Amino acid sequence: MDKKNNLKVYQNEKTVITVNEDWCKSCGICIHFCPKKVLVSNEKGFPEAKNIDDCIHCMLCELRCPDFAINVEKKEKTVEHIVNQKGLED
Ligand code: SF4
Ligand code: SF4
Repeated sequence: MDKKNNLKVYQNEKTVITVNEDWCKSCGICIHFCPKKVLVSNEKGFPEAKNIDDCIHCMLCELRCPDFAINVEKKEKTVEHIVNQKGLED
């Protein structure tokens, strides 16, 4: 039987946080080390990115997870942002 990864994806316009609930052992280390209290424990004990808007992409959760079960990605800036920034720099 094929076993699909049980991935939970949380995202907003700046951030994507993915939790692999097959690998996560609900140890709570990521929740404990997040300096912005982005992560909370859900009813199964898995981390849930309830306050994703507060994420500062410090990557501590990802780095501290002993099971590689949580991943944080900072979304790339849009083309408009890059063009605007260049316009300001010139
Ligand atoms: S990257 Fe940092 S701020 Fe964001 S959820 Fe992980 S520990 Fe918290
Ligand atoms: S540190 Fe890793 S294994 Fe522990 S609760 Fe967080 S995601 Fe799950």
